[in-house]
Amino acid sequence: MEKHTPYYELLEAIRQSGCPVCRLAIRSGDRFLETYSYEHVNDIEIRELVRAARGFCHHHTWRLFHKHSPLGTALTFFDILGEASQQIGAAKEQQGIMRSLAARVRKGLTPQGTCLGCDAQNNAEQRHLGLLVETLRGDREAQETYANSDGLCLLHLRTALGSRPAREATELLLRVQEKRIAAVREQMSEIVRKADYRVKERVTPKDIDSLPAALAQVVGEEALD
Ligand SMILES: [Zn+2]
Ligand SMILES: [Zn+2]
Repeated sequence: MEKHTPYYELLEAIRQSGCPVCRLAIRSGDRFLETYSYEHVNDIEIRELVRAARGFCHHHTWRLFHKHSPLGTALTFFDILGEASQQIGAAKEQQGIMRSLAARVRKGLTPQGTCLGCDAQNNAEQRHLGLLVETLRGDREAQETYANSDGLCLLHLRTALGSRPAREATELLLRVQEKRIAAVREQMSEIVRKADYRVKERVTPKDIDSLPAALAQVVGEEALD
């Protein structure tokens, strides 16, 4: 396999802590928001897609606001709220139609498209997972790097296993996963031990520190900073 930038990006992500696919996917969502903030807010086509989706999802809306551009958020949602108010007005004016007013308003407010931040994230997810599964079949450097990594979250492991990986890749994925699950549970075991009412010791902040890794292992990494 010819090695291009995506390969090295993937390897770099595998070397860092946590699920590499989560990391790369979150980054792609962020890159979209960044470009959107600077260029796309005034791009008519993109603006139309955002309007159809009724803005962005909960996660990407707050991320756009806090991390990228309060101004871009303002321009976007001024538009979305205007649209919502128009939809309500239009639904109220439609008389003699079978549907109830509630149903007409509800229909008007329902998104007609998906969050573009999520789209960017999902595309990246598929691309990187595909490359990972492909790379783990026979690429020694990737196999060694992966063997010493945190592996995937369970969400991405399931997707990876669903993409018909080669036996060799499956075995490596599972070996890393089992090791990781054991390590995370070991870290958590102090909390579980102290949850027993017969144990007098209290849970410490250090015990709580083990939780993000455990949660990320199951539901995927949290988008930070
Ligand atoms: Zn993941
Ligand atoms: Zn989203």
